Amino acid sequence: MKRLTVCGSTGSIGVSTLDVVSRNRSRYEIFALTAHSSVDRLAAQCRQWRPQFAVMSDDSAAVRLAAMLSSEEPKTEVLAGASGLQHVAAHPEVDYVMAAIVGGAGLVPTLAAARVGKRVLLANKEALVMSGRLFMDAVREAGADLLPIDSEHNAIYQCMPGADAHGPGRGVRRILLTGSGGPFRARSPESLHDVTPDEACAHPNWSMGRKISVDSATMMNKGLEVIEACWLFDTGPDAVEVVVHPQSVIHSMVDYEDGSVLAQLGNPDMRTPIAHALAWPERMESGVAPLDLVKTARLDFEAPDFGRFPCLRLGFEAVRAGGSAPAALNAANEVAVDAFLNQRLRFTAIARVVEETMLACAADEPRTLDDVLDLDGAARARAAEFVAAASSRS
Ligand code: NAD
Ligand code: MG
Repeated sequence: MKRLTVCGSTGSIGVSTLDVVSRNRSRYEIFALTAHSSVDRLAAQCRQWRPQFAVMSDDSAAVRLAAMLSSEEPKTEVLAGASGLQHVAAHPEVDYVMAAIVGGAGLVPTLAAARVGKRVLLANKEALVMSGRLFMDAVREAGADLLPIDSEHNAIYQCMPGADAHGPGRGVRRILLTGSGGPFRARSPESLHDVTPDEACAHPNWSMGRKISVDSATMMNKGLEVIEACWLFDTGPDAVEVVVHPQSVIHSMVDYEDGSVLAQLGNPDMRTPIAHALAWPERMESGVAPLDLVKTARLDFEAPDFGRFPCLRLGFEAVRAGGSAPAALNAANEVAVDAFLNQRLRFTAIARVVEETMLACAADEPRTLDDVLDLDGAARARAAEFVAAASSRS
């Protein structure tokens, strides 16, 4: 029986995680569930799963949740804020931590789990992009198991077990990172000027939270994933090639020196990588339907259009530049996407805000968690200025 904390349990990945666990109840026990402010949803999950702890990162939401659960037996203790998140991510009774908070808010609990050697199931790519070396060093020093949940990285992991593309005898030539191209793959660049948040969030193949859906539409998601792949598989950006694959059936590939290309295929459903990472090195039921290759019929591939999707170019540039660039890129993107979702910024201005912020915040690589958080805060402040300037121009 493994005890699991699900950080971000009310989100898309959190709900899929609980669905997989519900199919494998003899293997996992839910120790803690966390959410930002969706009190009703977390209360319902607590009534179903009876965790020892529930954490609301928003303080007033925690007070409301505690009131809602006060007469429940057995008791769920309600905690609040970043300290509550850290408590349940690093608690000695916990074996596995699903890191499924969206954005930089997930860094502190995810790093806390890595530092005490938990099995970290990493969906929260922003945490790794922000803290790269610091995070990977913590994983190595504590001997944590780091299992990627992002479908591409989970696929690469399955095609290249172990973490190191350059390890002795590995012979990896390239990582082929696939992406659907998002909802605007075939739209003309001019028509992207006026797209609405709902259009950007209507992904053709995946159902996801709104932030990552916008990232998929700008292809910043693929840019973040390039950075994520470099850290997870200890390789450089020149060995990572992005391939657009509209059907999202191949989730990524590894190209070896002898000409072998290994791919992982499956229906586009996050329960597959979640079940893989929970059960690893074993396999278990995920609820995902078997892949019907005859019905799929064809798999298409295209080169990415860096002109139409400048955010993808920025992802490569950030990892090449190193230093503060990946953290600044991530912070600026979060601010810009939030402004876009709240209709304060045009879709096509997201890339500009990110690029301006990366340039304005150029500095050395952050070495400590405080350095990362300082840089993140400074980049968010600069990005907010660029958003304000862009809104007044349009
Ligand atoms: P989501 O918006 O559906 O859910 C986010 C979760 O985080 C919710 O439980 C929410 O309450 C919590 N949260 C939000 N803001 C918070 C804050 N400030 N502090 C603490 N908790 C907060 O997002 P999602 O689509 O499930 O994505 C979660 C993470 O997984 C992201 O990093 C995303 O990039 C990654 N990911 C998601 C998918 C997917 O299919 N959804 C695929 C690959 C990677
Ligand atoms: Mg992905």
